[in-house]
Amino acid sequence: MRYLSTRGGLIGGQTSAPFSTVLLEGLASDGGLSMPESYPKAELDAWRSLSYPALCLEIVSRFVDDIPRDALKTIIDKTYTPDIFGSAEITPVRELEPGLSLLCVSNGPTLAFKDIALQLLGNLFEYVLAREGRIINILGATSGDTGSSAEYAMRGKRGIKVFMLSPHKRMSAFQQAQMYTLDDPNIFNLAIEGTFDCCQDIVKAVGGDAAFKKQYHLGAVNSINWARVMAQIVYYFKGYFAVTRKNGEPLDVAVPSGNFGNILAAHIAKQMGLPLRRLILATNENDVLDEFFKRGHYRPRSPEETHATSSPSMDISKASNFERFIFDCVGRDGAAMRELWAQLTGQGGFDLTAPKYQTSWQRVQASGFVSSRSTHADRLQTIRDVYHRYGVMIDPHTADGVKVGQEYRETGVPLLCVETALPAKFAATIEEALGKTPPRPDIYAGIEQRPQHYKVLPADADAVKAFMRERLI
Ligand SMILES: *Cc1c(COP(=O)(O)O)cnc(C)c1O
Repeated sequence: MRYLSTRGGLIGGQTSAPFSTVLLEGLASDGGLSMPESYPKAELDAWRSLSYPALCLEIVSRFVDDIPRDALKTIIDKTYTPDIFGSAEITPVRELEPGLSLLCVSNGPTLAFKDIALQLLGNLFEYVLAREGRIINILGATSGDTGSSAEYAMRGKRGIKVFMLSPHKRMSAFQQAQMYTLDDPNIFNLAIEGTFDCCQDIVKAVGGDAAFKKQYHLGAVNSINWARVMAQIVYYFKGYFAVTRKNGEPLDVAVPSGNFGNILAAHIAKQMGLPLRRLILATNENDVLDEFFKRGHYRPRSPEETHATSSPSMDISKASNFERFIFDCVGRDGAAMRELWAQLTGQGGFDLTAPKYQTSWQRVQASGFVSSRSTHADRLQTIRDVYHRYGVMIDPHTADGVKVGQEYRETGVPLLCVETALPAKFAATIEEALGKTPPRPDIYAGIEQRPQHYKVLPADADAVKAFMRERLI
């Protein structure tokens, strides 16, 4: 399997690149994202009865042909264990009532679905770096979720150091403790005296210093990494097999969305032949994506127009993985992609309902995607409804998905709502909705009282560079 750039240009210096290259490089040279040149065909009958790791091996080995199958198997088997994910099913399905279930993908180390992909990514990175005699220093910024997921995935890994910037005193006590209590020698927490945007600006400034970047082998683990999308495809198959009795039965999925990585994996699963009928996309008050699927206009927001909501992991101004979906809708035409993305830069958006994009807009409408938005009030109401009706506590992001999923629910087609985090991570909103504190997994009991390891630095790229230089040779 080779990978192409969504903008039709070079990737890893060539017209197409193997998996290992796109794993480590991120963006293509033309600013595009990597996409597999074709989608492999699902073998539903052979896959239905497989365990999670075995299913994962079947799917991943079709996208990765430059790591031997036995090495892939070792990597996958050590990633998806009951020890790390809480059960042998890895992503169990929980029925709320007949025809309505939750796909529980948030039982990993940091209690959010990002662990599914990042735990695999950590092991893939370690393998490929060792094979190629390389090292990588990951520089990232987090407002909470992704950073902790990345740190738990990379801790103790050979050849990898992580420098994670977070806004000093602006995360919840739990989120802060989750990251800062790690004391692995390859993990560095930098608490920046500023906002999350300041942290992101510093990452850009340091990464934009080409000499520094090269000398210190800087890399990123961001939401556009292809391997993350690939790893997420697996649980849509697992969920389908758990909910349906035989292959061919339709299933609707509802996905709380931000950067479009999770639901993109559902789209790819469908393209591979998984009988998903509707892909129901839920946004919060930051409704860029809902606006696109309803009206065909894609208009990313400025940081000032981005609301801070009670489902914070979906507070996005632009959806970074969306480009990959549009690539499919324009018939994988690099020139059309360059034109659309030039409009994004020049005019701040594009309109796919314009006559010249008629075929592309028809493909969007035939894709199975539907969407809606959910607000703070909807979120609280849904958390209460689900708790009182089914005795199940769901987190605010999952609630957005359940709310929007219900709007599109139809008798005769089961609905599977993706649970993207556990309620313990967002205790304040749960308390507001239910007047009680969500249960916390034992490993996190009293975490706020444990010793923390972090360094406070001013919001200044040079201070961060100086800190890194001291720790890197
Ligand atoms: C990251 C995240 C999302 C959004 O997922 P995308 O792949 O960015 O669309 C939703 N819910 C939670 C809890 C998350 O951490």
